[in-house]
Amino acid sequence: MSDTHCPYCALQCAMTLAPGVPGGPAVEVRGRDFPTNRGGLCRKGWTSAELLGRGDRLTSPLIREQGALREATWDEALETIAGRLREIRHASGADAIGVFGGGGLTNEKAYLLGKFARVALGTSRIDYNGRFCMSSAAAAANRAFGLDRGLPFPVSDLDTADVVLLLGSNVGDTMPPFVQHLQGARARGGLLVVDPRRSSTARLADDGAGLHVQPAPATDLALLAGITHVVLRDGLADEAYVARRTTGIDALRRSVSTWWPERTEAVTGVPAQTVREIAHRLAGAESAYVLTGRGVEQHADGTDTATAAINLALVLGLVGRPGSGYGTLTGQGNGQGGREHGQKSDQLPGYRKITDPAARAHVAGVWGISPDALPGPGIPAVELLDSCGRPGGVRALLVHGSNVVVSAPDAGRVREALGRLDLLVVSDFFLSETAERADVVLPVLQWAEEEGTMTNLEGRVIRRRRALPAPGQARSELWILAQLAERLGAPSAWPTDPAAVFDELARASAGGAADYSGLSHALLDTGVAAHWPFPAGSRSGTPHLFRDRFWHDDGRARLVPVRPRAPESPAGRELSLITGRLMGHYQSGAQTRRVPELADAAPSLVAEIHPVTARDRGIADGEPVRVAGARGVVTARARLSRDIRPDTVFLPFHYPGQESANLLTSARTDPISAMPEFKNTVVTLAPASGVSP
Ligand code: SF4
Repeated sequence: MSDTHCPYCALQCAMTLAPGVPGGPAVEVRGRDFPTNRGGLCRKGWTSAELLGRGDRLTSPLIREQGALREATWDEALETIAGRLREIRHASGADAIGVFGGGGLTNEKAYLLGKFARVALGTSRIDYNGRFCMSSAAAAANRAFGLDRGLPFPVSDLDTADVVLLLGSNVGDTMPPFVQHLQGARARGGLLVVDPRRSSTARLADDGAGLHVQPAPATDLALLAGITHVVLRDGLADEAYVARRTTGIDALRRSVSTWWPERTEAVTGVPAQTVREIAHRLAGAESAYVLTGRGVEQHADGTDTATAAINLALVLGLVGRPGSGYGTLTGQGNGQGGREHGQKSDQLPGYRKITDPAARAHVAGVWGISPDALPGPGIPAVELLDSCGRPGGVRALLVHGSNVVVSAPDAGRVREALGRLDLLVVSDFFLSETAERADVVLPVLQWAEEEGTMTNLEGRVIRRRRALPAPGQARSELWILAQLAERLGAPSAWPTDPAAVFDELARASAGGAADYSGLSHALLDTGVAAHWPFPAGSRSGTPHLFRDRFWHDDGRARLVPVRPRAPESPAGRELSLITGRLMGHYQSGAQTRRVPELADAAPSLVAEIHPVTARDRGIADGEPVRVAGARGVVTARARLSRDIRPDTVFLPFHYPGQESANLLTSARTDPISAMPEFKNTVVTLAPASGVSP
């Protein structure tokens, strides 16, 4: 029996792996009591063990030869990679090598990957797929609070909320066990869901449980400005809190002064009375929370929209007040820890800035190198991918825990970019759509085969434990990185034991914002509630942040004036495309599409279309439909639903090939966070007769 956590999303539901029965998966999954899930799992968690014994699991390194991948020994694969990397570095410099990480990697792997890039390769060109999901919320929190931890309070605090304003997050599908934490607000009629779709989460607000607000796509910032306008105009702000704990109220007042409810209605489509009602219900509640998700963040103004949500929470005095708060719901399994320890292009372990001389000196000291040997900031994910094979860009790319061919925006362009590389190395446990294109594929461990730690959406560091031996020749990325570092003649030590890597990570994080220096695998094994910061010498973590002060030097939060922009609006017969997730699939679907129960429930791309929109275009329910945009075309099956606005179409992004929704999305990014604009794409719809999606 092994106590561990689900391999998928950031709720990190606790589970116990018991020996499997003959003929079934190697282990049996049992839900385990834990504050985030209380024994519950969603269908992805229940079926997660089915991936462990699959026949298409990668168990041997592969090398491309004459166009096809063939099995190779580890020695051959590692020598091939090291040799090519040495050549490329010699010919074009260290920045000609790129590293692309993932928000599902353990803390130990994310940390070692950042160290490997900077110390063994000497490149600044590292970034990761968390750029696609958390970067705007993180940028907004850093700007306002001086610190980014998705939820600055334990999830279970939400249980007693009177009002929860949930913007752009479909937890009913993406993390169903989370819904139990909304029951208190529902019972009091206080679940306020903002989503252009009537999602499963929006339906939780039915029957007196709250409100569903359905704004026009990409108008969330205007809606938040309108609500904040009412709070300030109607004397609902917590003036004492604002005066004592924030700066910038005058500029904020000016920025929202023209967003009276009727103007907000004209822009967003949300009735003025509803705008007023949200403001008054939040202000009148003893316990109120504002929560955001990717729906409002994955826009070219996502940082500003998350900032507007923070502004609202701050003027109401919610942030740091017991029983109230602001937070963002992290998506990927280690989306929180993955952004703290060095995978980001501008970051060193402990959530330190790579441009900070003191941070460079500290981390270089732990690594036993000169601070001058550390590269500077690199370039964010979209730019990094686009630079592949271009003059001055990367010639080699090492991809770990990411299926960029499906998950990155403007997927057609990403496919072309990868094709321009001299060397693509992919470490994965299945031959993902990205691995299929690699020159070398390295088989790595799945969650039940490895030890390590993850950091969940509430900043709690938790243990992942091994229940099964590695299959075939699959190896941990820790071992792979150490082997390559040695072959490249890298300085520093390269431990491969996860506990030893964690100890080094903890030392490197000491004194940083995300300080893990008081933690170790042994301490985590005692079951301590380890919300960071957890500095050396402390006896417990920090479940609640911001109770007394924010992380800026003066201890105050920043109210930052932000202004709605005009979104890219559909004209004529065009529609807005929203992309998102389904209950049965996770991210690019590379794992969940391989689980029969999940694949059978959602085997192919389905476009959710309003019946009026469909009728106007001659589209019938269940028929093939062609969704076209400036960057590409996908084919899907139509599902007619009144849950979606007539000006909008919804596509999940879990599917590859011509069903990849990201063939349509834009690589345009937020200027502050560099997050791509997944949620605002103009498309047209037409029947695709004769096409079988
Ligand atoms: Fe829990 Fe998320 Fe796993 Fe579902 S996918 S069981 S919500 S951790």
